[in-house]
Amino acid sequence: MEPRRTATWYEWIQAYERVYLALPKSIRIPCPNCGQATLRLQLTGNPETHVGFASFWCTTCMLGISTGRCNIPHGVDMLSFDLPDEEWSRHVPQYKVIPPDLGRRRRSVRGLTS
Ligand SMILES: [Zn+2]
Repeated sequence: MEPRRTATWYEWIQAYERVYLALPKSIRIPCPNCGQATLRLQLTGNPETHVGFASFWCTTCMLGISTGRCNIPHGVDMLSFDLPDEEWSRHVPQYKVIPPDLGRRRRSVRGLTS
């Protein structure tokens, strides 16, 4: 068993990519932080261009990441940028966002709308 530690941003991105690339299928993989298969991916974007960002978190340890700009595949459940914050946070709970290791680009969860 691995000793308990906090997963790095890079480990989160690796897990995210596995889940993202499997879309529109949802796959269950262990959380890079706590090991539970309770990861959630929620995409938020522009319904016309299908460009947005991803929120990726673990419902067990409530850690996760938020990506910069990404393409949202068709047929995948997506929330609109226009959704009121209150409604949006019903889909995406407040979790602790691991800041990217690479610079400080677009680290805020809803930063792409500005
Ligand atoms: Zn976890």
